[in-house]
Amino acid sequence: MEASVACIGGTAAYDLLRDGAFLAHRLGPQDTPFGESQPIFACESRFGSFYFLSPSFVNYRANIYALKSLGTRAVFSWSETRAISHNYKIGQFVVVSDLIDETHSRPRTFFENQGLGVVRQWPVFCPSLSNALMTALGDEMCRFSPSGTYVCIEGPRRETPAEVRKYAAFGAELLGMTLSPEVFLAKELQMCYASVAFVAGYAETGSDFRPFENGRILDAEQQAERAAAAVEVLPRVLERLIDVLHRTPGMCACENSMQHHIASGQIGWDWRTWFDEERPVSQNQPPQNPGASFPSDFIPFIRRPAGPTRGFGLRDDYPYEDHIQP
Ligand SMILES: [Zn+2]
Repeated sequence: MEASVACIGGTAAYDLLRDGAFLAHRLGPQDTPFGESQPIFACESRFGSFYFLSPSFVNYRANIYALKSLGTRAVFSWSETRAISHNYKIGQFVVVSDLIDETHSRPRTFFENQGLGVVRQWPVFCPSLSNALMTALGDEMCRFSPSGTYVCIEGPRRETPAEVRKYAAFGAELLGMTLSPEVFLAKELQMCYASVAFVAGYAETGSDFRPFENGRILDAEQQAERAAAAVEVLPRVLERLIDVLHRTPGMCACENSMQHHIASGQIGWDWRTWFDEERPVSQNQPPQNPGASFPSDFIPFIRRPAGPTRGFGLRDDYPYEDHIQP
């Protein structure tokens, strides 16, 4: 089985998988030049296949490399977050739109000391995949925010109140320990990456903030119920997302993110040669018809727009709003 979409979920999502929420076949850990990946599951839904990989705190590079090797073109992260901004409600979904990286000991690139990986980070998350996620959440009647700036902390310890004040001053609205470096690594392998986070609580600000809705305080039990309900909707949203992706002619430039390194001759067209000790670029000429190498289930939302291109394949007159339109 080959799938174009992969879901990286947290522990709660893995529990769903274990409890039979998806029809899943365990592929197991995959060997990569960066070590062994987490176990990967090949899953089936009504609208198509997808891969599932659960908490990726071990070897980020191996996980992303393994998904790419399996034919994945789009990675969707489903994770828990705690809100810094009290504008977000417990149980609410947020399609993450920007990222502050406060990690300090994780590998940030596939290309250490190679002069590669100069990759643009705006938009940080794939606009086409994010748009598809919003459609899927809306179709499932989920309450969601279309944007949120997420600060990724190193962990495993939690944040201090002073750190939360610092992150808030930076513009962070959500806090968690996932997303970095996954999103950056996915870009280096020219994959789409987007994230839905659900608010399970609030960051530690040093005050005793208690969420207040409809004239009463939400007690701890109600908060836990809402967070659990947010997890349980994952299978339906994921299934809907795959359906949306297969019928939405979106557009994005993700699969061109390394194009400038290819055009300058630093690396070849075949991404698998990018990690060879001696990269035989001269023997790695572009195929006469690059599209011919794409798998037959090439999903349509990756199509790029017609018209003049520049740099990363973006049109000269390419405002962000147009970029996310189907
Ligand atoms: Zn994309």
